[in-house]
Amino acid sequence: MRDGVPTSPFRREEFAMDPYAEDALKKIGAMGFKRFLASNQPDVAYDHLTYAEWKWMHRHVEKLSFDDMFVCMHGREDECECKKPKPGLLLDAAEKWNVDLSRSFMIGDTEADTKAARAAGVKSILIDAPYNQGVKSDYRVKSFMGAANLISALERGDMI
Ligand SMILES: [Zn+2]
Repeated sequence: MRDGVPTSPFRREEFAMDPYAEDALKKIGAMGFKRFLASNQPDVAYDHLTYAEWKWMHRHVEKLSFDDMFVCMHGREDECECKKPKPGLLLDAAEKWNVDLSRSFMIGDTEADTKAARAAGVKSILIDAPYNQGVKSDYRVKSFMGAANLISALERGDMI
């Protein structure tokens, strides 16, 4: 959070990882899903941090059990097709890995995430946070592990 707006961490001290992220990713993988990171990282373009600092923080993400990562490093003025809320990162992942988007889920915490999901035809799962109370999504959960549990329940047909 920065001035009331959620942002990515700019410095190492601000970086914190959900301690259950890896467990949640493993659970999702065990259900047969491919797991992709789809991330906007414009802060290097905006000179909020150096590429070296970004890379240092990204090392921790790279240790997680993602099958692939799709990162947009562009700033707003680049007008690229990949920066969420555009669906480019999701469409790239689907094409590269031959994934059925209609049977996929996008887990995120911002309106850019849920809008990208909708634009790509993916069901959105929003992780509840003070800054996203007005954001519309198909589902809302308390945590990343909560998202994994929800997907598990949906796949078993326990709930619609
Ligand atoms: Zn981009």
